[in-house]
Amino acid sequence: MESTFDPYAAKALLDWQIELGATEAIGDVPVNRYEVPDTPPAAASAAARLRAAQANTAPVVAPPAAADPLADARAAAGAATTLEALREALAGYAHCDLKRGARNLVFAEGDRAARVMIIGDAPDRDEDLQGRPFVGRAGQLLDKMLEAIGMSRTAPDPGQAVYITNVLPWRPPQNRDPKPEEIAMMLPFVQRHVDLVDPEIIVLMGNISCQAGLGRQSATRLRGQWTESYGRTTLPMVHPSHLLRTPQAKREAWADLLELQARLRGGA
Ligand code: URA
Repeated sequence: MESTFDPYAAKALLDWQIELGATEAIGDVPVNRYEVPDTPPAAASAAARLRAAQANTAPVVAPPAAADPLADARAAAGAATTLEALREALAGYAHCDLKRGARNLVFAEGDRAARVMIIGDAPDRDEDLQGRPFVGRAGQLLDKMLEAIGMSRTAPDPGQAVYITNVLPWRPPQNRDPKPEEIAMMLPFVQRHVDLVDPEIIVLMGNISCQAGLGRQSATRLRGQWTESYGRTTLPMVHPSHLLRTPQAKREAWADLLELQARLRGGA
């Protein structure tokens, strides 16, 4: 009989699982599947849950159905009085499914005393791997754009430094667009992030960022017009990944950078 095993398909399936975050094919401890209770996790006995935890196969326990993701997000974010505490609050927030597919929480990078806070959309593959925002191709372009106006995420002077974060701290699977409810449950965290950093100017970079901060999606239409978001003076800009796909849009992005520079110098 002809074999139906296709090594290319098998490799693609394996890559897909790794992409989803699978890090091991088997656990360290054997599991007796005959003992797995047939009741759902929430109703499983404490002993069964303990056995599962000991076997390192404890399911990600969903929060109780009655829990309100938004109320929990507001409470968790509001209780954070430092950036470290806010990071911890995000790490402990159980309602966002994106967290389960991501390798790392991508919180922020840059100078927390910076005058400018850049809010991007969501981590991509490289950011998910490294746990740092804007480190892939789009991030490298962002660094070059900032350098062109004398700014950077590593500048020692807060006047030239930026602080960078994203609306979503977890990479959506296959880079799909985040769902409206996923954006909504992150908003209290983003607002708290802004309040704790207390920047003078916010740059909303990309469609998701504009949607979250301004309730309107199109960065190409909103770009370059000063507005307000999270209670701060705000400049929407297109995302660097859009510039990688559409180089002719770089001209407008350059104009926006000069606008930002002029405002920081007190001339706009
Ligand atoms: N795109 C974003 O919006 N943020 C990142 O961190 C990387 C890519």
